[in-house]
Amino acid sequence: MREADLVVIGGGPAGLCAAISASESGAKVLVIERNKVLGGQLVKQTHMFFGSEKQYASDRGIDIAEMLLNKLDCFNNVEILTETTVVGMYEDGVISVLHKEDVYYKIKPKAVVVSTGAFEKALAFPNNDLPGIYGAGAVQTLMNVHGVKPGDKVLMVGAGNIGLIVSYQLIQAGVEVAAILDAAPRIGGYLVHASKIRRMGVPILTSYTVKEAIGKDCVEKAIVSQVDEKFWPIAGTEKEFDVDVICISVGLTPLNELLSMRGCQMKYVPQLSGFVPIRDENYETTVEYVFAAGDATGVEEASAAMVEGYLAGLCAASKIGCTPDDFDERKSDYVKQLNDLRSGPVGKHILTGIEQIVI
Ligand SMILES: Cc1cc2nc3c(=O)[nH]c(=O)nc-3n(C[C@H](O)[C@H](O)[C@H](O)COP(=O)(O)OP(=O)(O)OC[C@H]3O[C@@H](n4cnc5c(N)ncnc54)[C@H](O)[C@@H]3O)c2cc1C
Repeated sequence: MREADLVVIGGGPAGLCAAISASESGAKVLVIERNKVLGGQLVKQTHMFFGSEKQYASDRGIDIAEMLLNKLDCFNNVEILTETTVVGMYEDGVISVLHKEDVYYKIKPKAVVVSTGAFEKALAFPNNDLPGIYGAGAVQTLMNVHGVKPGDKVLMVGAGNIGLIVSYQLIQAGVEVAAILDAAPRIGGYLVHASKIRRMGVPILTSYTVKEAIGKDCVEKAIVSQVDEKFWPIAGTEKEFDVDVICISVGLTPLNELLSMRGCQMKYVPQLSGFVPIRDENYETTVEYVFAAGDATGVEEASAAMVEGYLAGLCAASKIGCTPDDFDERKSDYVKQLNDLRSGPVGKHILTGIEQIVI
């Protein structure tokens, strides 16, 4: 059994910032990431970020990942394990990890920050398992990480920011986007993104959903139909699109089974997109020494994930005896940054969710 001071699970923006902040406080940190590279969602985001200047607005996601890694490089009290997945968190505080595919071992940390991010929601319709049906994250990974086009003609399902941004990236990669659908009566993403897409000739159909995929060995066609106010398909409104890709971008759900397994109290909060841990203002869950940050505590944005990571890392380090002299100033600065980020209408909606889980 290996011993460790502070383990950070997940090397996305929340985890990297937790590691920076905790190591800055003097804690010995071990970051565990299941992918080959650190950065989480950031490494597939080639667009310039929105948000506030302090959280790198106007920089590209991939560059933000690089900047955070450079910051982390300045500390010699951080160890990083990639291609290593945390597969269990147990009552006695032990966590089990799987390195690559066959090396399995246990670690006993003094404290943990869980920053495992989120996973994509799926959509149920006939033939939704045909090759050519992807989540938007998979399309981004193929295109922006591996340089592979997912197909030639795409139907995008979901007009939130992710659906709009990925549609734009598909067009940049030379892929035709036949249409973007959304079951909601209004476009969910920022209108600046939607207008850009519309100017490129892509129709955005609101109150529409995908009814069925058609194809023998892979997608050849999508049948879509209009929906009523209860989201039921309206007969006779069907349209057909000849496409070889249907990209599903209907939202994310917090990925936090490890917290449930560890016994942290969880609550379903629609505003935060799923089950999330009950926590205090220091981002400590109902299990002492277990902290959480980022999309795992509620789906939001990288900007908020980074600040939550800084805050959780600072408080977790303090919990194990590494309290910097400027703890109070740093903590109140992070709290202020989060309040500023959440001052708009979307942030206010998120806050109504957060109010339900903070004790
Ligand atoms: C298309 C798209 C566009 C976006 N645009 C913006 C934008 O413009 N501005 C903005 O602020 N936000 C944007 N976001 C949102 C932003 O990317 C996320 O909110 C942010 O990445 C969340 O950070 P995180 O660290 O919580 O999770 P993630 O970035 O998802 O990182 C979680 C990490 O944990 C790892 N992990 C998970 N489980 C385990 C395990 N068991 N063991 C080890 N490692 C594990 C994962 O591999 C991953 O690296 C966008 C998202 C998408 C998909």
